[in-house]
Amino acid sequence: MKVCLVLTHQCNLGCSYCYAGEKFKSSMSWEIGLRSLRLAFSRPGPVEVSFFGGEPMIAFDSLARLTRVASTWASRAGREIRFSMTTNATILKDKHLRFLRHYNFFVGVSVDGVEEVQDTQRPFLSGRGSGQLVWRNLEAFCHQLEDFRVLMVIRPGTLESLPQAVERMYRMGVSKVSLLPDTEADWSNSRALLTRVYQQLARVCFLSMLTDEPMWISPFVEQHPAQLAGSEGSGGCGFGADELAVSPAGHFYPCARLVGPDRRTEVRIGSLADGLDWERIAQLQLQADEKMNSCGTGGCKCLALMPGDQQAQLANVAMFTEITGEACQNALEMVAA
Ligand code: SF4
Repeated sequence: MKVCLVLTHQCNLGCSYCYAGEKFKSSMSWEIGLRSLRLAFSRPGPVEVSFFGGEPMIAFDSLARLTRVASTWASRAGREIRFSMTTNATILKDKHLRFLRHYNFFVGVSVDGVEEVQDTQRPFLSGRGSGQLVWRNLEAFCHQLEDFRVLMVIRPGTLESLPQAVERMYRMGVSKVSLLPDTEADWSNSRALLTRVYQQLARVCFLSMLTDEPMWISPFVEQHPAQLAGSEGSGGCGFGADELAVSPAGHFYPCARLVGPDRRTEVRIGSLADGLDWERIAQLQLQADEKMNSCGTGGCKCLALMPGDQQAQLANVAMFTEITGEACQNALEMVAA
């Protein structure tokens, strides 16, 4: 089972689009952390423990202790275990890198673009830009970790320099990038630019797949024939059934991105105190399926439960699905020519 521990609501950045909502100093207690780990081990099969925030590196001591405990339990019980975390790459010392390497963490590193873009989209709370520091730390990840993924939130204002940022990452040694559209943004005037940039990046991805140094750019790589052949289709996250997120207060959500300030009781699916609410899970799944079917989008069901104008967000998802499909078709034809 995959359990994501949202270790803290605190963050040192003030991203313009932050989905985590209001930041406050509330961290997961040791007891809630341990009970969350027990939950991850409660079902047979591989165990996956991931850490999220806020910024989880703010709670590094707790992250490290919980990782050691989970690793010990797994080796005593002969269970397979995987660790992952998502970080904004502003807190990184050698000891952190050594730790992440030792426990073979899969790390998601959030970087939105070249320094100027990063400075504007993801400044520190003080307003100071985070670009220089984050690119320096990204280089350290490239040198020290075998496998990690860059997570890039894309917005209309970041599109123009996106290919430049991806190319620079590739030269630096990054081999996996996920483009995560901000579905709350107003894309109405950016369709032509988005189409051009997606076509360019789909070609980079597909061409690199012919080499020994592929650049896996999601959402294009999933449509590459080599990947389609080996995949059983992506249904997004486990949505409570075999995957859930635990808030610092011990409430369950289908996905870490839905936790926010932990006040949306309508998307909670239980708690450590009361257990899983299967009725609520079934009801939310149905609700999400209906919304997503009505606008022809696929992927992670959590998209249909995000706060804000869901109709507009799903319309944006449908547009991205269409533009991605065209870009991949175009890239396939170019590679075949
Ligand atoms: S790093 Fe993550 S949690 Fe922190 S402000 Fe940015 S989006 Fe929000």
